Amino acid sequence: MDLLTKRQCSLFNFTSSHQELLKKSKVAIVGCGGLGCSAALYLSGAGIEHLQLIDGDRVEVSNLHRQIAYTINDVNRSKAYCLGERCVRTNKNSKYNACNTMLCENNINDLLEHVDIVLDCCDNVPTRLLLNRWCKKNKKDLVYGSAVSYDGQLIVFNYSKECNSCIYCAFPDIDKMRDTCNGLGVLGPVPGIIGSLQAVECIKLITKIGEPLKGILHYSSLDTTFNNYEIEENCEWCNKVKENLSLEITYDEYLANNKKYTLYDMRKEEDFDEDDVFIYGSKQYKKGIDVKDNSVFICKAGIESLNLVKELREKSVKCWSIKNGFRGI
Ligand SMILES: [Zn+2]
Repeated sequence: MDLLTKRQCSLFNFTSSHQELLKKSKVAIVGCGGLGCSAALYLSGAGIEHLQLIDGDRVEVSNLHRQIAYTINDVNRSKAYCLGERCVRTNKNSKYNACNTMLCENNINDLLEHVDIVLDCCDNVPTRLLLNRWCKKNKKDLVYGSAVSYDGQLIVFNYSKECNSCIYCAFPDIDKMRDTCNGLGVLGPVPGIIGSLQAVECIKLITKIGEPLKGILHYSSLDTTFNNYEIEENCEWCNKVKENLSLEITYDEYLANNKKYTLYDMRKEEDFDEDDVFIYGSKQYKKGIDVKDNSVFICKAGIESLNLVKELREKSVKCWSIKNGFRGI
């Protein structure tokens, strides 16, 4: 048995296959500040060997009260490299990849596509929004942490499973939020606590032990309280994603937005009963016609149209089938 993880492996319900999962998993830590230091050290200790450490900053003396992986000797050195070296001193098998760069639209695919889980340990809103969009689109679990002033927050966006919320649902005003402790200050241990919790949630997601956090966990150091708030899963962006993911809409949903859609009636006139007519304003669908985005198809029972929509979605055409067809009207 590996002595490093001996105490972890003697936990009840924790087996050698859980340890194996941790050993093989690849975790990205975006931001090697207070949150990232604490998360990376605990994850290395837990036996996670593949860490992608991303930060373009260098260590400053004013960081040391919260960024516990660094010492005075690290000042002016790259945070990502220093943190990687420090992880190896905890776990000699650590195969960290230090990326001395800021995450951006141009490098996010290269930096994150091979990882299993992403920890958002950064300190600025644009990077958080970019991470969210990317992780949701690519179905990667994202563990969000923030620590400003005397407070900290933790959210698990379980994007690899069905997750209907996002950072805009959690913080509708996020575009206007300030998220850096440079201006507001931060009590040193607070990012340490939140980073530790990020590591806990990350271990749980990888091993599938316990239940991932639901909602927003808010820690107030002044009151010594942890409170959990529900996230209302209803932001404009999520609704748009939901709409794009679903293959079917009801006839009422079509009517509510009928200016936006082109409706194709898939029934053939020769199959019509006496009082059947084409829907007013609809077009007749003929096999092989050029279908544009925002098309909606209706058939007798919603099966033929659903099959067609599945086919067209493969070709990236944005279209929907009316649920249950004419039987559903
Ligand atoms: Zn949302």
